[in-house]
Amino acid sequence: MDLAHVIRNIPDFPKPGIQFKDITTLLLEPNAFRQVIDTWYERYRARAIDAIVAIDARGFVFGGALAYALGVPLALARKKGKLPGETLAESFELEYGTDTVEIHADAVQPGQRVVVMDDLLATGGTAAAVTRLVRRLGGEVVEAAFVIELPPLQGRKALDGIPVHTLVSFMVD
Ligand code: AMP
Repeated sequence: MDLAHVIRNIPDFPKPGIQFKDITTLLLEPNAFRQVIDTWYERYRARAIDAIVAIDARGFVFGGALAYALGVPLALARKKGKLPGETLAESFELEYGTDTVEIHADAVQPGQRVVVMDDLLATGGTAAAVTRLVRRLGGEVVEAAFVIELPPLQGRKALDGIPVHTLVSFMVD
């Protein structure tokens, strides 16, 4: 199945000029959701992955299903103020201002090989910040995986040498 056909484009959301790539329509198609998870399951099952680090909030949907399939721990990287335990934080630049992601201090163990996962790679700022969190905890980011990539925003550059795997690209920002 061509995943591009089940991802809805919403123009001017959440603000004028943004083409929002809506994965809720993909999730309503069980075959498409299964295709995403099966593809990644086949990709990662023989690569000695110790944990999935999923990014708030749509990354949880895909990362959760993949962690279940692989039988590995699922660590949540959340927006500031959501995690109740001891956390580490990393901030990153937005178009206007900054944003912050956090992870529990015990979510990744030193030496663990992890895949960082989100629904979409745009500028890469979010995933780069999550990568810094994983590294501060002693983990190794083996790959960053996204359903969608927006190549014009050059997210791979921000991820600076970390292998990136994406399933569908749109040439709009
Ligand atoms: P970035 O840090 O710029 O790579 O942005 C990635 C994060 O923002 C992901 O969690 C996405 O869910 C969200 N995001 C950014 N741009 C879009 C877009 N055009 N459509 C849907 N989600 C987006």
